[in-house]
Amino acid sequence: MQYDVIIIGAGVAGLYAAINIPKDKKVLIINKRETFKCNSFYAQGGVALAVDDADVPLHIQDTLDAGSGLCDEEAVKVLSENSRTVIDDLINRGFKFDTDKEGKLLYTQEAAHSKERIIHAGGDATGRYMHLFLLEQNPHPMLTDTRVVDLLIQDKECYGVTVLDNRESRNIYAKNVIIASGGVGSLFEYHTNAPCISADLQGLCVLKGIELERMEMMQFHPTVFVNSDLAQKLLLTEALRGEGATIEDENGRRFLFDYDERGELASRDIVSKAIYDYNKKTGSKTYLSLKNFEHVYFTKRFPNIYKNLQLLGFDVPRQRVPISPAFHYAIGGIKSDLNGSVPSVKSLYAVGEVASTKVHGANRLASNSLLEGLVFAKRAVETILKSDVEKKDVLFEVSDEEMSLKEDKDKKNLLRHIMWENVSIVRTKQGLNDALNQINTLLKEKIGKLLKFRLLTAKEIVLAALAREKSIGVHTILEEK
Ligand SMILES: Cc1cc2nc3c(=O)[nH]c(=O)nc-3n(C[C@H](O)[C@H](O)[C@H](O)COP(=O)(O)OP(=O)(O)OC[C@H]3O[C@@H](n4cnc5c(N)ncnc54)[C@H](O)[C@@H]3O)c2cc1C
Repeated sequence: MQYDVIIIGAGVAGLYAAINIPKDKKVLIINKRETFKCNSFYAQGGVALAVDDADVPLHIQDTLDAGSGLCDEEAVKVLSENSRTVIDDLINRGFKFDTDKEGKLLYTQEAAHSKERIIHAGGDATGRYMHLFLLEQNPHPMLTDTRVVDLLIQDKECYGVTVLDNRESRNIYAKNVIIASGGVGSLFEYHTNAPCISADLQGLCVLKGIELERMEMMQFHPTVFVNSDLAQKLLLTEALRGEGATIEDENGRRFLFDYDERGELASRDIVSKAIYDYNKKTGSKTYLSLKNFEHVYFTKRFPNIYKNLQLLGFDVPRQRVPISPAFHYAIGGIKSDLNGSVPSVKSLYAVGEVASTKVHGANRLASNSLLEGLVFAKRAVETILKSDVEKKDVLFEVSDEEMSLKEDKDKKNLLRHIMWENVSIVRTKQGLNDALNQINTLLKEKIGKLLKFRLLTAKEIVLAALAREKSIGVHTILEEK
């Protein structure tokens, strides 16, 4: 059995690719866990778009400014110019973004956007609503609880994947493979990502000699409630600050203005670094104050945050909430072009958070990532549908590599700790070299393939961070004294 397209991942990028492929094509979506376990499900704030033609250059400029000169301008143009089309497509298919009483889309503002251009659904549940909608629209079969553990590549052409399904490995063949497997959250001790987002495909690409790029560019979210035992922490969306939430120290002082005149509306990297620096210098805890919100408006506009914080014992919006930065988003990833193609391997595509299209440069502008997933997934599918791939009959042996060993769990936790301590918001050469040595030591031990994926990805992040000697965007490296 040969599929026309295999899609690895059922987040927004994978599912939007799927619904753009006609029903008569043989498509298989492969998804590691239950369908809701993906970052898309957790997206709160919304989707950015250029609201009209006049806004395209402004949206482009805001994205370029946030990216600190490292964006690919062509990719940003593609993102912005196609934003209205993909959003209209979702609306025409029946998706309901939040609107006012007259049915007009409600636009909100987030940090570093020069105007209100973020649309949302379910108040603060955009990802959940959009993900469910795309699942309902998807006409193709899906294998869940099945993990891709290898790419079948010969002579720089992709022929399919190996999956681990009920602890058994088997090959599945396809004319085209789209990787939409998301970011790297589980590499870090504190993160906001779904727990199964653990850099499998990035690590697999390293093993296969497929280039990853901009791996030093890892984004940390400044406002996360981290006082819980779970690795995945509760994110408090940027839209809160966009609409009036403030950040203060133990004494109620809004210290962000010491760092940037935009205060709470500065970009994420600036706010994360300011909190990190201020805490280090003063020892003060940091809080998100919601007291500018009127109670009923808050419960309606941010119903999930309201419910979650109430459950945690906070009487919001009256009471302030302790916050800390945590790992949030992988800007770097599998090198891919404007059509989502992986340049070094024929018939292989990467879209969504797993890809590096360079739209985000050195820092991602808030709410541009759902948009990136939608725009580039569509372009990848259009490219596939235009191409007429004829495949040779090639059969691959199923490898019998050990996937995981009992001891790997402790090593995974150690890796998370190494990454958080040495490769997070503020980096030093010494810390990065320590991390590299520890990762190399772990790689020499007897470990399962799944841990190897994590270690190889982590190593790429460290090597890229060492190679970029000057701070820029989300990458902050302290000069040696
Ligand atoms: C808490 C939170 C809030 C956010 N808020 C926003 C927001 O408001 N606006 C915005 O634009 N962005 C937001 N983001 C970022 C955005 O949600 C993600 O970047 C985006 O959803 C990624 O979509 P994706 O389809 O690429 O990956 P994901 O949605 O993460 O999906 C990845 C899929 O790949 C599967 N997978 C992974 N490995 C394998 C494997 N080995 N085999 C098979 N399947 C595999 C997973 O099971 C999953 O189905 C937020 C992220 C988080 C975590």
